[in-house]
Amino acid sequence: MSEKCDSCSAEYEAIYWVPEHVWQKIKPKQDGFGGLLCIECAHSRAISAGHVLRFSGSDNGWGSDE
Ligand SMILES: [Zn+2]
Repeated sequence: MSEKCDSCSAEYEAIYWVPEHVWQKIKPKQDGFGGLLCIECAHSRAISAGHVLRFSGSDNGWGSDE
């Protein structure tokens, strides 16, 4: 199942997590959860907001804000 980026309209498959304080600065919509971003848009928006995201992978868990 793919998602559609609210910034560039690309369809993407990646499931990822970013810290809440970063998401609040990069989210494409101000309502509700804040919309959806593909990895490339999340990355470029985070850099513009002054955050360099490090991507890692896991097949059984998420990152955390701690
Ligand atoms: Zn995008």
